[in-house]
Amino acid sequence: MYFNSKFQTFGIAFLIVCTIICPFQTQQLQALSQPDLEFDTGVAFKHLKKYDQLAPLLPGSENSQDFLAYAKKTLENSLWSVEIQSWAHSGPSITLNNLIAKKSNQNDNSKGIIVLGAHYDARAWADKDPDRTKRKDPVPGINDGGSGVVVLLELARTVSIPEGYEVWIVLFDAEDQGGISGWKGGQSGWIIGSTYFVKSLSDSDKNRMKLAVILDIVGDYNLNLHKESSSDSQQTNKIWDLANELGYGENFLDQTGSSIIDDHRPFINAGIPAVDIIQQRSKDGYDFFKWHHTTNDTIENVDRESLSKVGRTMEYYLEKLELDPMSSNLILSILIVSGVIVLFGTLVFVFRKKLFKKRYN
Ligand SMILES: [Zn+2]
Repeated sequence: MYFNSKFQTFGIAFLIVCTIICPFQTQQLQALSQPDLEFDTGVAFKHLKKYDQLAPLLPGSENSQDFLAYAKKTLENSLWSVEIQSWAHSGPSITLNNLIAKKSNQNDNSKGIIVLGAHYDARAWADKDPDRTKRKDPVPGINDGGSGVVVLLELARTVSIPEGYEVWIVLFDAEDQGGISGWKGGQSGWIIGSTYFVKSLSDSDKNRMKLAVILDIVGDYNLNLHKESSSDSQQTNKIWDLANELGYGENFLDQTGSSIIDDHRPFINAGIPAVDIIQQRSKDGYDFFKWHHTTNDTIENVDRESLSKVGRTMEYYLEKLELDPMSSNLILSILIVSGVIVLFGTLVFVFRKKLFKKRYN
């Protein structure tokens, strides 16, 4: 090939460097514009109305079974394969049920399993109710129970399974019965369903499980999410950064909160990284939210915009899932270094005569 001027050579070198670098610039630009997300909070709220109709979903109740049948059908409509994991619990003696839905990337699921989880049970005692006479009444659990579940049901419809992964959506029974007389197991009566789920995993599934993300209490008006301190910090930061990119920085606070007993714990104890997205404190200073463990945890007190913010963030997060950022950083570095080498080589080629002259004069 013959170049009749050094400008042509420059032009070609410039194009080569651009071809190498441009995909990354495009990615940066995409990040700046609003991504195209499908999460429909109207659909999520429709699921919440169903949850509300059947509330309270007390462990072992018929309503609980009915809701699981509804969730199973919803998930199957979006082509998830669903099984109900049932077992006999001994304190109290009732049958408990987790729902496990699986979907994989048909061509390749070699990178492992990602779990998305939420508890669907409602607490049997409203022991924080301002009215003392109601403290043995059940909590409707529309925010503390329903909100996480319905976000997952709508996410199931809209999410694209990350390349190389299998996603499991798990709805846990009996998370919220701790401290109620007769309840044993899990951790002091809390997180019984997730504890059973993790214990019953085969070694192979446990080894393939790379991450669990739990959603709990995500429907408050003035959503106020701190970073839960026992969660995997790298993935927590990633989720919070993406939420910020979507404009939800006022809701996903760049502040570390406390460590909570929730359904992420059994995963962490088994060596599986996990993230708990949970409101720990309301903007006006209540623990969790104003109506936590009261009979006022009702559908009127759930904001569909909050469901949307969490659902869209999760859809975006899964779309960009990167559990091993080292590999993409390495590729980026290699490409930048090759670009610089090509540019430098071209400059030496173009100015070789001048360089030679200088050397031998
Ligand atoms: Zn609770």
